[in-house]
Amino acid sequence: MTIAENLQQIHSQIKQAVANINARQEVRLLAVSKTKPCADILAAVQAGQRAFGENYVQEAVEKIQFCKEQNLNLEWHFIGALQSNKTRLVAENFDWCQTVHQSKIAQRLNAQRPAFAEPLNVLIQINIDDEESKSGIAPSQMLELAQLIVSLPNLRLRGLMTIPAPDCGEEVYEQMLVLFKQLQAQLPDQAIDTLSMGMSNDLIPAIQHGSTMVRVGTAIFGARNYTK
Ligand SMILES: *Cc1c(COP(=O)(O)O)cnc(C)c1O
Repeated sequence: MTIAENLQQIHSQIKQAVANINARQEVRLLAVSKTKPCADILAAVQAGQRAFGENYVQEAVEKIQFCKEQNLNLEWHFIGALQSNKTRLVAENFDWCQTVHQSKIAQRLNAQRPAFAEPLNVLIQINIDDEESKSGIAPSQMLELAQLIVSLPNLRLRGLMTIPAPDCGEEVYEQMLVLFKQLQAQLPDQAIDTLSMGMSNDLIPAIQHGSTMVRVGTAIFGARNYTK
């Protein structure tokens, strides 16, 4: 299957999942291109894809520069673990950062966002099933971090993101949806419209439980040859 065929298949899976829950909710597809070459990104762009997710800052910046030189107007989401010494490159090159989980990171992104750019769209990463290996903040700390982010002029809080354990139960998605609704209710003046959950293997249950953005790598680009 080609990248274009894979994209088409995922779009029809998303459509079907939304139809099954009788929702009018819009679900966006983020194409996760980490470790994949620019040629694969170009193939996806040709098939109509515009939003891409990357995990490794240095690799991502090279791809973003390359696509800019091709005059492509794409939307770049940082979805990797973010150390504070890498925040400047994220603030300068990305449109979204989905992995904000500390006030220090939020403050650095705000300070380093260039004045000419639109505010950086931000998701708070939630550690929903308390796995030691995964980053993200505890649900109990969500609101405090959200309040800080909305006070920062160069950031725009859009919602929540999570990476549940591969074998997690459906209650994990339910808990995320409850948190997302709490956030919307607590910050009614903000455009909190994004619940980023679901990957190649769990996009359908994630959508059934309210996801508005799925992050799909393998099912679009094939297996990754290496991980960093
Ligand atoms: C790699 C990655 C994905 C994509 O995973 P696939 O299983 O290849 O679809 C999604 N989200 C995050 C945060 C990732 O690191």
